[in-house]
Amino acid sequence: MSIRVTFLGTSAGLPTIQRNVTSLALAKGDSRDWYMVDCGEATQHQLLKTRYCTSRLQMIFITHMHGDHIYGLPGLLASASMAGRTQPLTLCGPEGLEAYVVASLLGGDINELPFKLIFKRNDTSEFTFRDDDFVITAHELSHRVPSFAAQFREINHSSKLDTSKLQALGVPRGPLWGRLQQAESVTLDDGCTVSPQQVMQPPEKECIAIIGGDNDRPELLAEAMRDADLLVHEASFSKALRERIGPEYMHSTPEQVGIAAAEAGVGNLILTHFSGRYQKNPKQGEEGIETLRQEAANVYSGPIAMAEDFSCWEVKAGGEIEPVT
Ligand SMILES: [Zn+2]
Repeated sequence: MSIRVTFLGTSAGLPTIQRNVTSLALAKGDSRDWYMVDCGEATQHQLLKTRYCTSRLQMIFITHMHGDHIYGLPGLLASASMAGRTQPLTLCGPEGLEAYVVASLLGGDINELPFKLIFKRNDTSEFTFRDDDFVITAHELSHRVPSFAAQFREINHSSKLDTSKLQALGVPRGPLWGRLQQAESVTLDDGCTVSPQQVMQPPEKECIAIIGGDNDRPELLAEAMRDADLLVHEASFSKALRERIGPEYMHSTPEQVGIAAAEAGVGNLILTHFSGRYQKNPKQGEEGIETLRQEAANVYSGPIAMAEDFSCWEVKAGGEIEPVT
């Protein structure tokens, strides 16, 4: 049971040479079925360089209605239709998403796509998206417009037989094992009945990841983070910069995110959505990506990764993030 995240864009507000605006692909382990969180402009170009394609896209979750998180949608949807998609696609987002998508497609002479768009509001208390692999819920954040984090909780399908228990109960290898695997009780030659519950392994723990939207109060995710294996959160500005420019942009510093993650006991942290001023190799005396990482590491002792475009990590329930190359 594991979740894999691939960053399609990691820059705040506007693209840089190294970083596109925000988007993330999430999948169950190495599955090619995937989910998108946010879709900044040119996300479809980024997608071409990954293992994912629009035909296997299961759902899009939009965290908030700011251009750097949504301007890639019309192009992505138009290209999905040209690539032959026919399967319906669910778009989850706050108020305004449906009107924006419909108007922008219409403005490009697309009255109707060859696949159905299903819009679901994620800014309502009853929002949940569920399919065979995940239950996805939305958690309210604090930003200049309504903004939400998505919590992805894997659904555990594993129902493996415990062979030592089968042997101990004297169930002979063969068709009876198959019936137990199908959740049927079976009767042995000696008249004893064996139920599936007696011979199944305990279920594997499900993996939980939270993908935040723009937010200046990461502590709002305390409850959602309680059992989470991974938090992906924005860290747009360093502490020094935020003190200089004030709180009006309503973004988080790495220190704020680190404190909230530490208090909730979340297993792993990936920071993303960095202001374009932070470079991987900054000039002497300038703050860079390492400055941001260090600010989080001062208050959070778990594994911390700094997202880059196309960087990819996988986390197992209860485990540490591992880079996927
Ligand atoms: Zn943003």
